[in-house]
Amino acid sequence: MSVRLERILPLLLLCGVTQGAETNLLKLRPVPFTDVTITDTFWAPRRETNRIVSIPVNLENLEKAGNLQNLRLAATNATSGFQGLVFMDSDIYKAVEAASYSLATTPDPALGQRLDEIIALIGAAQRPDGYLNTYFTIKEPAKRWQNLRDWHELYCAGHLFEAAVAHFEATKKRTLLNIAIKNADHIDSIFGPPPKRLGYPGHPEIELALIKLWRVTGEQRYFNLARFFIENRGRRFFAEEHKTPLDRYDGTYWQDDVPIRDHQNIKGHAVRAAYLLSGATDVARETHDAGLLGMIRRVWRNTTEKNMYITGGIGPSAHNEGFTVDYDLPNLTAYQETCATIALAQWNHRLALLYGDARYADVVERALYNGVLAGVSHDGQKFFYVNPLESTGNHHRSTWFGCACCPPNVARTLASLGGYAYAVSDRALYVNLYIQGSARATVAGVPMTLQVTTDYPWDGQIAIRPQLQNPARFALRLRVPGWCTEPSLAVNKQRVSRPVLERGYLVLERTWRPGDVVELNLPMPVERIAAHPNVKSNQGLLALQRGPLVYCFEDADNSVPLHRLFIPLHAEIRPEKARNILGGLTVLKARAEMAAELDWHRRLYHALPTPRAALLTAIPYYAWDNRQPGAMKVWLPVAPPPSPVGGLEARAQVAVSFANNNSQPRGINDGVEPRRSSEQPAMLCHWWPHKDSEEWAAYTWPTPVRISGSKVYWFDDTGRGACRLPISWSLQYLDQGMWKPVEAHGAYPVAKDKWCEVTFKPVQTTALRLVVRLPRDYASGVHEWKVTEHDDE
Ligand SMILES: [Zn+2]
Repeated sequence: MSVRLERILPLLLLCGVTQGAETNLLKLRPVPFTDVTITDTFWAPRRETNRIVSIPVNLENLEKAGNLQNLRLAATNATSGFQGLVFMDSDIYKAVEAASYSLATTPDPALGQRLDEIIALIGAAQRPDGYLNTYFTIKEPAKRWQNLRDWHELYCAGHLFEAAVAHFEATKKRTLLNIAIKNADHIDSIFGPPPKRLGYPGHPEIELALIKLWRVTGEQRYFNLARFFIENRGRRFFAEEHKTPLDRYDGTYWQDDVPIRDHQNIKGHAVRAAYLLSGATDVARETHDAGLLGMIRRVWRNTTEKNMYITGGIGPSAHNEGFTVDYDLPNLTAYQETCATIALAQWNHRLALLYGDARYADVVERALYNGVLAGVSHDGQKFFYVNPLESTGNHHRSTWFGCACCPPNVARTLASLGGYAYAVSDRALYVNLYIQGSARATVAGVPMTLQVTTDYPWDGQIAIRPQLQNPARFALRLRVPGWCTEPSLAVNKQRVSRPVLERGYLVLERTWRPGDVVELNLPMPVERIAAHPNVKSNQGLLALQRGPLVYCFEDADNSVPLHRLFIPLHAEIRPEKARNILGGLTVLKARAEMAAELDWHRRLYHALPTPRAALLTAIPYYAWDNRQPGAMKVWLPVAPPPSPVGGLEARAQVAVSFANNNSQPRGINDGVEPRRSSEQPAMLCHWWPHKDSEEWAAYTWPTPVRISGSKVYWFDDTGRGACRLPISWSLQYLDQGMWKPVEAHGAYPVAKDKWCEVTFKPVQTTALRLVVRLPRDYASGVHEWKVTEHDDE
């Protein structure tokens, strides 16, 4: 596709400091994970499970799902047989990246050989010109680079570059790096300022990856290309690519609505947004561009002050896998994709290094200990894609996904975890995460090893010993986590009475001698956390946090129904070691109360019975869904929750003509009101994969009811799923064992995004049936179906 030249903005090609530069950048260097040893009882076992279970599970599933077979087909010039989605290659690269990190810290000749085999396949699948993407090579060779918005070629290339850098650094072999360079050179020959093509990826990722490739190879063109993709984004190229008239184009989903420096808030698809911001932060670190940095800090504030879950995740909505409006943080329908939490951690790690400010590392910690770690089961075999903060008991991890971005993303994060913990400047060593083990670093020209002893995150006592050959002067900067209000510090048993606190770090600048020991204490009382009042879904609720860990309540520990429980503000809550749960963890025991369920049928007032005492157990959020399935809640009320006030439907039994194992008929009368037909509820009643058939749902009551109306809110996931509005619907009631149509006053309406209501001549019955005609090529589904009691008595 040609692009009019006058639309190409002048682009600075040199990687120099731009005008309007910021000068307050600290630009810390991370201590690489290869120089960090983790020996604690929290992360070390999880990392070992990652190494011996999750990484092999990833590789096995890449074989089963066809990803690796796609490489073989492309390598042998096959023209059919491609399996899976258009971005299947990216999951291979992410798994190779994870395995490479693992090799870098734990030698494993068998895994190294497996990687060599996969890399040989990747090389064989690459075209002579450097192009590498099995979908297009096998299936659509004429359509390379034709749809940057949707077809993920640049996204896949980005993950290739990240894998190549990881593999090169782990093994010093150039096999994958050479493939990546050839591919990057190919891409660089196509995209860029005139006479090359304008364009940028629909799914950002390649930007941050090109920066990594630039750092390893020193090839300036890679930096320039990353900058080109970022600087040009927002020029609404996808409108032109898809011939969408500009007045009808909304590029928000792809962060293609405004030029990069003009973003005011986080928006669109969450993983795309956070990868893009990571790449933009990398570029700004080199250019010091005040406009870019101002945007990054502005969007960061909007993200963390109005759009982040307490678990460190982002992106509340399934509809766009992303953002909606500020403070929209529902719990039951929280999307919070695992990849989005990881991307948020990656972005904040970059900001922590750039500014040396602890508030960015706070976000990294919140994400890693909560949202990220929840992404994988305790046994390392199953993964979450979607991470709700409340479940009715039907949300569970899967061994794999059709879109399998999350499992290898968790694996690579755990395998390189140590890289988030420490950073250095010329004169200081920063400790961002407190993990027992050691770190090797050189500060002020002095090589040293930092020994850390702690039982974090279960306990806030941390002993730090800088091990040096000779005395040396430098600063230790110890992060005070945002959750900690009263840290205390001692050096060689001498309490530091007025420690210097700078940008969230306690600063200990002195001449360190062999044998010195720093003792930091971060007290961890149980905190009751309230959400900003604008977060409607959390009004009147609290969550429990202790240290960096957010807690939740699960049926597995609590025999009383979670939806009737509340924790009065004066209730005692205490931590307790539970050695028998998932290898040992600290639970919270809360003296909660259970509200009586009130029957509000035809009542305006009700005497309030005394609640019953209930001793509850909360476990860390990351640990949920590892035992018997059941309900889960992060947020609990502080006062008796209102009893559900449904209409007659709430008291009915539900039956359906058909339900496969991903339909939840109980969703039809769970009282969760949708705001849009496209919204993905936690429980949905649908008839998929049936289509072009007549189906039904029925309510039955133990005693006769008198009804004269009913309304339905239809589910419709056009654009991502296979449910559409039905062709038609009608109601029948049971009369002496026979189903008879009700006498409706007018037609049965069918519409999206609203209640479709009918009234009818009153009937007395014990059952009502919703009869639905499915479209020819689609299924239908129902968010909610309500019944109106006839009130002429
Ligand atoms: Zn994902």
